[in-house]
Amino acid sequence: MQPIHFASVLLLGTSLALAQNATSSSTAPTEPKAPKSFDLTAIDKTADPCTDFYQYACGNWRKNNPIPGDQSRWGRFNELSERNRYLLYLDLKKAADSPQSPLQKQYGDFYAACMNSDLADQLGDKPIEPLLKHIDSFNDKKQLAGLLAAAQSHLGSSVFFNIGSEQDQKDSTQQIAGTYQSGLSLPDRDYYLEDNERMTKIRSQYKEYVTGIFKLIGDSDDKAAAEAKSVLEIETLLAKGSTPRVDLRDPDKVYHITAVSDLKTLAPDFDWNAYLTGVHIPTVKSLNVATPGFFKSFNEVIDGQSLDAIKSYLRFHTVNRSAPWLSKPFVDANFDFFQKTLQGQPEQTARWKRCTRLTDGALGEAVGQDWVKENFPPAAKDNMEKLVAALRKALAEDIQSLPWMTADTRKQAEAKLDAFRQKIGYPEKWRDYSKLEVKRDDLLGNLHRSQAFEADYDLDKIGKPVDEKEWGMTPPTVNAYYNPSQNDINFPAGILQPPFYDFSKDPAVNFGGIGVVIGHEMTHGFDDEGSKYDGQGNVKEWWTSADRTAFDKKTDCEVQEYGNFSPVEGVKLNGKLTLGENTADNGGIQIAYKALLSTLAQQGKSLDDKIDGYTGSQRFFIAFAQVWCENRTDQVSRIAAKVDPHSPGRFRTNGTVQNIDEFGKAFGCRQGQPMMPASACRVW
Ligand SMILES: [Zn+2]
Repeated sequence: MQPIHFASVLLLGTSLALAQNATSSSTAPTEPKAPKSFDLTAIDKTADPCTDFYQYACGNWRKNNPIPGDQSRWGRFNELSERNRYLLYLDLKKAADSPQSPLQKQYGDFYAACMNSDLADQLGDKPIEPLLKHIDSFNDKKQLAGLLAAAQSHLGSSVFFNIGSEQDQKDSTQQIAGTYQSGLSLPDRDYYLEDNERMTKIRSQYKEYVTGIFKLIGDSDDKAAAEAKSVLEIETLLAKGSTPRVDLRDPDKVYHITAVSDLKTLAPDFDWNAYLTGVHIPTVKSLNVATPGFFKSFNEVIDGQSLDAIKSYLRFHTVNRSAPWLSKPFVDANFDFFQKTLQGQPEQTARWKRCTRLTDGALGEAVGQDWVKENFPPAAKDNMEKLVAALRKALAEDIQSLPWMTADTRKQAEAKLDAFRQKIGYPEKWRDYSKLEVKRDDLLGNLHRSQAFEADYDLDKIGKPVDEKEWGMTPPTVNAYYNPSQNDINFPAGILQPPFYDFSKDPAVNFGGIGVVIGHEMTHGFDDEGSKYDGQGNVKEWWTSADRTAFDKKTDCEVQEYGNFSPVEGVKLNGKLTLGENTADNGGIQIAYKALLSTLAQQGKSLDDKIDGYTGSQRFFIAFAQVWCENRTDQVSRIAAKVDPHSPGRFRTNGTVQNIDEFGKAFGCRQGQPMMPASACRVW
């Protein structure tokens, strides 16, 4: 349950971390085509690469690949994710039909239970009836702590706040307890607080959805409307107390070690001792209260809202969280609001896709064992290790040659780079799921037991040494991450395929694809957030103050540059929210290009040699850009501008190539053209 801001990922999931995708559709599984790396047919030759490189590299791909009905964003990442999901589905289906091992029986049953939509339709809201009855029996606000502790298994972090283990950011060898703001359903606090026509409309649509959910569990129209009003009021109070996303990226702002005995000063009306005992947290004297302001708002809710209002909030979240897996009316309502209205996705996602994702989430390291045997040859790992080594060397040279960094900081930066660890493909040691009970006819029960199993697994780490071998992503995931507390870079097997990585292609293509991804993750160790951590993963200032000032000035250039990009009319990107990712993209391309040069030099090859009519450097930049070819609904562009620390594909491409001299040279651009501005930003 590590909060997302602890690890810098390559991109956010396609669901934007909102509610799960929706319901059954008759779409039969078919094998998606394998994505291509360096796709000549994607290029729009009518566009001028020096004016709009994204249009040049991706124009035809974007024209020929409209967003499928069951998606709200469609890009090269999604092509590969869909393919991996299909291959995973094949394993799940086989295991569901004829399991060959106890592990296959377990994940096969989980998947089969999920696929049983007939049973779900028969049961209606029965699977959550006992949970709703439990909330109904709550008749004194003093019982809230006990109730929340008991609800952990089915509500997880969706009500009020989140509790879990985390690495102590001042002593990265230790796992401590931490607690965070949560409890909202809309994508960000701004959705509750901004006073404009668009947000007002979304709030009113949300209120209709909440009302509809109460009616589905049998409440009268009047009662449902009153309950929905309470839910909105409570979530708005929580939103007011929530720390904005930009501040959540600052390690100093989310570290407040607090004695357990002092929790009552933050939220005096909540029985913390009963709660901590109830969630079976190992005995601790203190914990990190990452967002203290939020807990004051939480207390205002307990203090100022009626018992009935709090019960309405809990009832809604209990149903909402389960809705995608209940009977059709619940599934449809949930889809209509979260996917269709909020994200502009017209069609429901096929059930086999949703169930594959759900099983990967619950038993990812079980089915992943079989998946990598079939889909991740050992040679891929060896090749990847060579690529990572080339990138490490290039970053070391980059640090050596930075004109703005002085010797003292340089030495520390080198030490941090030396301490980098890397994980490639899949875990050395797989997780043990033997204690997770899975029943073939109990979808919601499986889900709740799995959530409880995860919560126990997470809380059990508190007070124990950190397991450096643990993974934060499952093997088929198309993504990568850097974890500053572990100072490690991680590349799941799922991403080590075209369009990122294609062993049949020349080095220019692979360095432009996976090479930039590796460089991106490494640069996270030195972005505005990662640079506050040392090589051991501790938050510690290792920069001289003059170098820190120089660094801040350099990164301010990127804040300005990206803050002026507009993904959709009337919306600008948030230059501060996206700073870490933009820095990583810009540093990543610099060092990947250097690594390509030295690799070609070793092989006695020249960048000027042409393949398919393009020089090596042109191929490098086209391969880089083509990773980011995508189409998005306007709704997704708007949500992403608020919540996604990554810039959209267009600006990840154009924003980055504008800042690297070699791009202009490769395409013969003139200074002053859009892709070769006079004032380029350069940090790493
Ligand atoms: Zn990243």
